[in-house]
Amino acid sequence: MNTLVYSIEQTENPETLYINLTNSCTNNCIFCLRTQKDDVCGKEMWLENENFSLEDIIEQFKQFPTPKSVCFCGYGEPMLRLELLKAFAKYLKGNYPEIFIRVNTNGHANAIHKRNVLPELKGLVDEFSVSLNGSDENEYIKLSKPRIQNAYGEVKKFIKNASEEGFSVVATVVTGFISNTPDIEKCKKIAEDLGAKFRARDFIPNGY
Ligand code: SF4
Repeated sequence: MNTLVYSIEQTENPETLYINLTNSCTNNCIFCLRTQKDDVCGKEMWLENENFSLEDIIEQFKQFPTPKSVCFCGYGEPMLRLELLKAFAKYLKGNYPEIFIRVNTNGHANAIHKRNVLPELKGLVDEFSVSLNGSDENEYIKLSKPRIQNAYGEVKKFIKNASEEGFSVVATVVTGFISNTPDIEKCKKIAEDLGAKFRARDFIPNGY
């Protein structure tokens, strides 16, 4: 069965539920769990197919107690499934307005969809956590191995646009993976200059 909704907390009342929308991504990060394991906290994460519907996500969501927050984050880039992401976020905002909605993204969405999708997500998404993963293009390419042109520039543009549109934005960097750590101080300054908060997080071998 497809794992569309999962928790990484060892409790029956998780504060955050995660939504797994796709196996695809426009990066191929060297630290990506997809390249190292098939599960997160024992949940099989590779989707058997991507033909599922909004109703399938809602059905799995309802099997958990109502969480404080929902995060779109799985074994792929959630913004590739933009329409489904919007539909489920709309369902949540309509039925559980108190739930905080975050999207963990590689920041390529506007390049992928060839338009600025941020206005479509206003009122649906509260926060974007965007993988900055580099203080320059070389550092970014080493860690993220992007499959689109000018990916680093696109990520920075996405962070700036999202901040200007009024979303809460956190630019993130993964540290400590096979001694491939970007220049943290420079990354922090770049994030702040783009209007975002900054978070460096250690690579976690067993899950997000
Ligand atoms: S952006 Fe996320 S899903 Fe995509 S390859 Fe990197 S870590 Fe994996």
